[in-house]
Amino acid sequence: MSSDGKKVKSLSDLPGVGQSILNKLIEAGYSSLEAVAVASPQDLSVAAGIPLTTAQRIIKEAREALDIRFKTALEVKKERINTKKITTGSQALDGLLGGGIETRTMTELFGEFGSGKTQLCHQLSVNVQLPLEKGGLGGKAVYIDTEGTFRWERIEAMSKAIGLEPDSAMNNIYYMRAINSDHQMAIVDDLQELISKDPAIKLVIVDSVTSHFRAEFPGRENLAVRQQKLNKHLHQLVRLAEMYDLAVIITNQVMARPDMFYGDPTVAVGGHTLYHVPGIRVQLKKSRGNKRIARIVDAPHLPEGEVVFAITEEGVRDAEE
Ligand code: ATP
Ligand code: MG
Repeated sequence: MSSDGKKVKSLSDLPGVGQSILNKLIEAGYSSLEAVAVASPQDLSVAAGIPLTTAQRIIKEAREALDIRFKTALEVKKERINTKKITTGSQALDGLLGGGIETRTMTELFGEFGSGKTQLCHQLSVNVQLPLEKGGLGGKAVYIDTEGTFRWERIEAMSKAIGLEPDSAMNNIYYMRAINSDHQMAIVDDLQELISKDPAIKLVIVDSVTSHFRAEFPGRENLAVRQQKLNKHLHQLVRLAEMYDLAVIITNQVMARPDMFYGDPTVAVGGHTLYHVPGIRVQLKKSRGNKRIARIVDAPHLPEGEVVFAITEEGVRDAEE
C-alpha cells in the first residue's frame, strides 16, 4: 500500500517515481517493482543516472509495495486461512486438494491427452461463479486458450447442470485465444489491467501453458531459451495469483511413455521447467470409461494419494462405484 492507501501495482504507482524517473528506470532495464526491489542502491543509481538517495528511497518503496519483510508465523497463518477454494464438482477430488482449487496459488494440471485437463478447466470456470456456500467464489474467470479447444457448448451444459443460467455464466468468462507464445505472454502482461477493472475475476486459466513454447522452441538446442521464457511467464502468473487473491490454473500435456518399465511412465516433456515454480501439481490419468485418476505431486502440505473421479455429460463428478 502507498501512503494514500491505494494498492501499488506498478513502478509508476510509487510515490517517489515521477514520469522522468520512470523513464530512466525503464531505459536502464528496471521495468518492474521486483527488479527495483532486489536492486542495490549503487547499481540502480549508476544505471539509471539518479542520485543515490533517490535510488535508496525507490528501492524501499518497492520493497514495501511487494510486502518484502519478515512476517510472523501468525501472520502467515492468517494469510493461509484466508485462502479460498473452488470446488471441482467431485468431492473426492476436492478432498485430495484439501477442499478444492486454492486462490493465491498456481495449480498445474498435467497428464496425457484426453486425461481431462481441458474438461476440468471448463468446469472450474463455471464453478468459480457459484456462491461461497456452494463451493464457488461468486466470481468470474479468464480463459486463455492456446490450442483452440474451448467449447462454449460445454460451458452451457455444465452451467445448466448446476443451476446457473447458461448465458450469464458464459458472460462471466473472458475468453482469449493466444496465437503464439509472445501473444500468450502479452495477454498475461495485460491481465493486471483487466483484473483491476473487474475485480470479480477470481480464476485465470491457461490451457495449455506449454504447447506454443514447445512448438516454437523445439529440441535440446532451444531448451534454455524456452525455459527462460516459460519461467518468466509462470512467475508472472504466480504473482497475479498472490497479488489479486485469485486462483491460477495451467495445463501441461505430458506423453505416456510405454517404453518405460519402472518408475512413472508419464514423464512431463519439459515438465521439469515447472518444478522451479511454486504451486500445486496435479497429475491426471485415464482410467476405465469416463473415470480419471488424480494424484498430487510433491505438495508438502497435502497428503499423498490418489482419487478417482469421472467426466460426464454434465461435467466433472464423483465416479460411480
Ligand atoms: P489434451 O492433452 O489433448 O488437451 P485433455 O487432458 O485436455 O487432453 P480433455 O479434453 O479434458 O483432455 O478430455 C477429453 C475427454 O473428456 C474425452 O475423451 C471424453 O472422455 C471427455 N468428454 C469431453 N466432452 C464430453 C462430454 N460432452 N460428455 C462426456 N465426456 C466428455
Ligand atoms: Mg486439453
